[in-house]
Amino acid sequence: MNKKQKKVLIRIIISGVMLLLINVIPIESLILKTVLSLIAYLIIGYDILRKAFLGIIHGNVFDENFLMAVATIGAIALTIYKNEKDGDYNEAIMVMLLYQIGELFQNIAVGKSRKSITALMDIRPDYANIEVNNELTQVSPEEVKVGSTIVVKPGEKIPLDGRIVSGTSTLNTSALTGESLPKEVSTGDDVISGCINMTGVLRIKTTKEYSESTAAKILDLVENASSRKSKSEDFISKFARIYTPAVCLSALALAILPPVFNIILSNDANWSTWVYRALTFLVISCPCALVISIPLSFFAGLGGASRNGVLIKGSNYLETLSKTKVVVFDKTGTLTKGVFEVNGIHHSEIKESELLEYAATAESYSSHPIAKSLQRAYGKKIDKTRVKDIKEISGEGLIAKVDNLTIAIGNTKLMNSLNIEYNDCHSIGTIIHVAIDDEYAGHIVISDIEKPNSRTAIAALKNLGVEKTVMLTGDAKKVAESVANDLGLDEVHYELLPADKVVQVEKLLKEKPAKSKLAFVGDGINDAPVLARADIGIAMGALGSDAAIEAADVVLMDDDPLKIVKGIKISRKCISIVYENIIFSFLVKFVCLALGAIGIANMWVAIFADVGVMIIAVLNAIRALK
Ligand code: ADP
Ligand code: MG
Repeated sequence: MNKKQKKVLIRIIISGVMLLLINVIPIESLILKTVLSLIAYLIIGYDILRKAFLGIIHGNVFDENFLMAVATIGAIALTIYKNEKDGDYNEAIMVMLLYQIGELFQNIAVGKSRKSITALMDIRPDYANIEVNNELTQVSPEEVKVGSTIVVKPGEKIPLDGRIVSGTSTLNTSALTGESLPKEVSTGDDVISGCINMTGVLRIKTTKEYSESTAAKILDLVENASSRKSKSEDFISKFARIYTPAVCLSALALAILPPVFNIILSNDANWSTWVYRALTFLVISCPCALVISIPLSFFAGLGGASRNGVLIKGSNYLETLSKTKVVVFDKTGTLTKGVFEVNGIHHSEIKESELLEYAATAESYSSHPIAKSLQRAYGKKIDKTRVKDIKEISGEGLIAKVDNLTIAIGNTKLMNSLNIEYNDCHSIGTIIHVAIDDEYAGHIVISDIEKPNSRTAIAALKNLGVEKTVMLTGDAKKVAESVANDLGLDEVHYELLPADKVVQVEKLLKEKPAKSKLAFVGDGINDAPVLARADIGIAMGALGSDAAIEAADVVLMDDDPLKIVKGIKISRKCISIVYENIIFSFLVKFVCLALGAIGIANMWVAIFADVGVMIIAVLNAIRALK
C-alpha cells in the first residue's frame, strides 16, 4: 500500500467508526446528530465532492465523482426534507464509504497487476560491473560510456548491448524472446542487454549507451504501449459521452415524471420515493468496471505477448492483429535465414579468391545479409580503409571503390542499369554478379536456407483462418518460386525493388475486404516503406536491428515466423476478453438500473453490484496475461 492508499484507509476507518457510534449511542439532539453525520460524510467524501466540483468547472460534468456527489447530497437533502426525528444520514455516508473501499481495493489490485506484468518481463538491469585497475566496481548501467569494458558473471543480467571481447558462455534469452533454448556465445559475438549470462564469465565491450540498449528500448516500448488507444477504448470514451448524460436525464425523468402523474391521478406526489429511486439509479449507472477493466485487459495482453517474445507497440495494434486475414512476407531474413552460403564462383575473369576478396571488401560496410555472407565466405580480415564512395542501391546491390577500382556487385537489374553484359547462371540460388571498372568479372552463387519453422507457420496461419499468404522478394524468379512452392504460399512476386513492394501491398490492400487486415512481415532491412504501408507491420530479426524496432508496429524478438501465429492468437484472446467484460458489465448494469428504477435495489445494493462487477472484470482481464 502506498501513502495515498494508507490515507484513504485511515479516512475509511475514522468515518466508519463515527457512523457506528452515531447509530449505537442514543443522541437526543437532532442537531448534534446531523452535525456529527455531516462531519463523517465529509471526512469520507470531501475529495469526491471536490473532484465533482472541479469537474463541473472544467466542463466534464458527467463523471463518476459527479454521480456520487449528486446521489449522496440528494440523499442528505431528502432526509432533511422529510424532517424525520431520527435524522438518518446513514445511507449517504455508507454509499461514500463503500465507494471509497471499492476504489481503494481497485487501486491496489490494478497497481499489483501492473507490477506483476512488468515484473514478468524482468529485463531491467540493475547494475554493471566495470573493471578499474583489475578490480570490479558496480555502477548503474546509465553511467557506462560506449566502448567501456564490462564484466558479466554467471547468473547476472547483461546490462548493456556490446560485443564479447573474451569468454564463452550460454545465455538465457527467454525474457526477451520467450524461447527457452539457451544460446551459445563466445568471443566476437554481439550480445544484447536483458539476457541472463548462465555459465561463463564474459568480458564485454559496450557498443551502446544504456538508453539506446535493447533492454531499455523494450521497456520503454511496453510502458508506453498502452497509451496508444485501440478502437474499443475509443468506443468506451465516446460511449461515456452519450451514456452519462443519458443516464442523468433518465434519472431526472424518474424523479419528476412519476410524481407528476401521481398528482394527476391521486393527488399524492410521493416525491421522496421517486427522488430516492432516481438517486439510486445514478449510483448504479457509474461505469467504473469498464473504465478500469478495458485498459487493464489491453495492458495484460501486451504484457502476455511480450513474455512470448512478441512486442506489440500499442493496444490499437492488438486489435488490428486480431483481424489479420492477409499475411505478406518478405523472403530474405524473414522466411529464410538470410545466412547465405557461397556455393560457387563462375566465369571469373580473375582468380576466384580475388573476386571474392573484392566482393567482400566492397560490401564491408553493408549490413545486408548478402554482404555479411560474402564477408563470412571470404573469411580473412578485411581492410576497410581500402573502400570508399559506397553507394548501396536497395533491391539491386552496391557500387563502391576498392583500391581505386570501381566494383559493382548485385543482381541483373544492377548490371542492366550499368549496361554491363553478364553471363546467365544455371544453378539455382541467388546470383551475385560482379563487375570491376565496368567490365564483367564473374558471378558468385549463394544460397539461403528456409527457416525451420517457416512452413509450419504458414500452415498454422491458414488454420487460424488467414485467407491469403503472399511472398514479395527482390530475388530472382527461380529462387522465389522454389521457396514459395516449398513453403506452401498462395502467391509470390519476385524481382521487386522496395518501391515495387509498396505497390504490390497497395494492390493487396485494395483487393481484400475493408474489415479484414493485412500484415506485412519483413526483416527490417530496406522494408521500412512497406512496413509502414501495411495495416500492421511486423518486423523480424529484432535481435540487433534497430531499424526494425523503429519502423514496425509489432516486433518479433527472435526471427521465428511461428511467433506471428502466437501474436495473432494472443491478440484474439485479449480482444475476446475485452468484449466479455464489456458485455458482462453492461448486462449487470442494465439489470441493476431496471431494479433501481422500480425500487427493488437500493443504493447499497447498487454499490455492491458495481464493486462486484469491477472485481470480476479485473480478474478476467488478468487472464489475458496467461
Ligand atoms: P528480399 O526482398 O528478398 O529481402 P532485397 O530487397 O534485400 O531482398 O534484395 C533483393 C536483391 O537485390 C537480392 O536478392 C540481391 O540480388 C540484390 N542485392 C540487394 N542488396 C545487395 C547487396 N548489398 N549486395 C549484393 N546484392 C544485393
Ligand atoms: Mg529483406
